Amino acid sequence: MREIKINLSESDIPRQWYNLAADLPSPLHPPLSPDGKPISPDMLAPVFPMNLIEQEASRERWIDIPEEILGILYRWRPTPLRRATHLEEHLKTPAKIYYKDESVSPPGSHKPNTAVAQAWYNKQAGVKRLTTETGAGQWGSALSFACNLLGLECKIYMVRTSYEQKPLRKIMMQVWGGRCVSSPSDETNVGREIRKRMPDTPGSLGIAISEAVEDAVSDKTGRTRYALGSVLNHVMLHQTIIGLEAKKQLEIAGERAPDVVIGCAGGGSNFAGLAFPFTCDKIHGAKIEILPVEPTACPTMTRGEFSYDYGDIACMTPLIAMFTLGHSFIPPAIHAGGLRYHGMAPLVSAAIAQGLMAPRAYDQIKCYEAAMLWARTEGAICAPETSHAIACTIEEAVKAREEGKEKVILFNFSGHGIMDLSGYEKFLSGKLSGYALPEEDLKKSIAAIKNFPKPGPVKGA
Ligand SMILES: *Cc1c(COP(=O)(O)O)cnc(C)c1O
Repeated sequence: MREIKINLSESDIPRQWYNLAADLPSPLHPPLSPDGKPISPDMLAPVFPMNLIEQEASRERWIDIPEEILGILYRWRPTPLRRATHLEEHLKTPAKIYYKDESVSPPGSHKPNTAVAQAWYNKQAGVKRLTTETGAGQWGSALSFACNLLGLECKIYMVRTSYEQKPLRKIMMQVWGGRCVSSPSDETNVGREIRKRMPDTPGSLGIAISEAVEDAVSDKTGRTRYALGSVLNHVMLHQTIIGLEAKKQLEIAGERAPDVVIGCAGGGSNFAGLAFPFTCDKIHGAKIEILPVEPTACPTMTRGEFSYDYGDIACMTPLIAMFTLGHSFIPPAIHAGGLRYHGMAPLVSAAIAQGLMAPRAYDQIKCYEAAMLWARTEGAICAPETSHAIACTIEEAVKAREEGKEKVILFNFSGHGIMDLSGYEKFLSGKLSGYALPEEDLKKSIAAIKNFPKPGPVKGA
């Protein structure tokens, strides 16, 4: 009988994270301060604890996962690798579709993998309180969950559209003891300033990041730091446990290696978590197509520029080398709140620039259609973000049928959509429309970074 759930025992959990920075053919471009000079670790010290700053800059290939972190991850890890046989049959594809089910964590997504690690390292460094931003509310609920387990306070700035569209996530944060406010808020200078200038703004991750960073660095007692749910190198690192588990599970399933690896990408972390261990194989000669997927409404990888840019609207972060739509870009209020970020993780951006990954963009209508087909074949209701990975998976499975190839497709089921039913409601009642970012809007926000430093040439591009 073919197995549709491949489980690892707890003793098979990976004990080290994988750092792609050690293997990239061209080295990562370092973060810069606004004057264009590389930043030093102590410049980041008001924002992050030193142990995480060291991880951010590390070029070690393998980094040990502390036992106490594993002790918490065991609550839901290793996560199952599942096979989508019902979808395969529906599509009449010879492809085998496997997916890593990250929706089984208590908050319902991959995000607690890094939330727990970040809260733990902060606690080690003596930090008592964490601030953060959240888009759809997934990250805010994951960090509240982690802070509760580790006894830290948690304050969350939630992007206004999501705060209004997704009140249930806010309640989850409160259940785990976090305090959540709508961003832009009147609790920071940046927030008050933006509310005055743009009273009707839907908010953005860029704005919420500015608020959370200001909150952390303005606490002069030193007990507060900031935590970011995606984008940064150490976040990608913490998520690689997903791909490392998947590798072991594919082996148990009797597969050599995947032909195609797919993940949706907002800041890039769930995609990176699954894809980086396979990207290492690709660098060493394996033939694998690696596909990050984004919405056409926020087309950072497919239409953005590879440039130095700020991570937030108030330019409080260092300049980072990444694919970006410009830090002043405010994405339209599409339902995949977690995919509405103007930038992309430097590690994912570098891998794309070096030809290791091939990004795709899909419209939200196509993604909801994919989510509906998934729910009606496989059963689970996926997060709107995850639907982008499913849309790509379906396209690849259909292509395999047309080519008559028995491909192995692996994607990341980054989270469930039980808290996001309002998007499904709009889709079912015909109120959702397709949206692609107009060229003029793109040109305008990219023009603002015209004079920013450009990363130098890379191998493989
Ligand atoms: C946050 C989120 C994403 C997007 O964030 P990444 O850092 O790109 O992974 C994707 N899926 C789900 C379910 C999320 O909660």
